[in-house]
Amino acid sequence: MTDFLAKKSGPALKSSCPSGVVATRLDQLLPDALNKALGESVQQFDRWMKGFISDEAQFHGVESRTSCPIRITRDKASLQSLSHKGLYPSGEGAGYAGGITSAACDGIAIADVIAQEVASRSIGHHSPHSS
Ligand SMILES: Cc1cc2nc3c(=O)[nH]c(=O)nc-3n(C[C@H](O)[C@H](O)[C@H](O)COP(=O)(O)OP(=O)(O)OC[C@H]3O[C@@H](n4cnc5c(N)ncnc54)[C@H](O)[C@@H]3O)c2cc1C
Repeated sequence: MTDFLAKKSGPALKSSCPSGVVATRLDQLLPDALNKALGESVQQFDRWMKGFISDEAQFHGVESRTSCPIRITRDKASLQSLSHKGLYPSGEGAGYAGGITSAACDGIAIADVIAQEVASRSIGHHSPHSS
């Protein structure tokens, strides 16, 4: 992080990343606007949390977005895919969540509509053995 802020090269630090890390000039890979935003952001964090900028901190790779950049379209009421009935696109990969809680909430919403769908299908088809 400090090498990035100083716009110079330096050694890669120890990392728990299984594939290992290779040092590179991140500021030469990213466009200027991103370098500026990243630099200002970590400085802001350092004001909020002293020590955020540190020789022991290491940027790993480049993440351009925090969740899926595409969304599989679905019907607003049934939550089923517009093109594939019976498919319920949900969670982060389908573009409906960006974190643990939103993914969980979306999962609950999907479970609810599936339960309603199953209940509406079984009305009138109850046998003593069905549950
Ligand atoms: C490093 C990291 C840190 C994060 N930190 C936070 C955080 O601090 N707070 C926060 O809110 N969010 C965080 N997130 C985001 C959060 O983890 C995800 O948004 C959330 O887990 C998405 O849940 P999901 O159920 O939609 O997808 P996932 O949790 O990815 O679940 C998808 C499941 O589908 C399975 N699967 C995939 N393909 C198939 C297939 N073909 N057949 C069968 N199964 C399949 C996968 O094995 C997986 O179990 C972080 C994510 C990462 C990567």
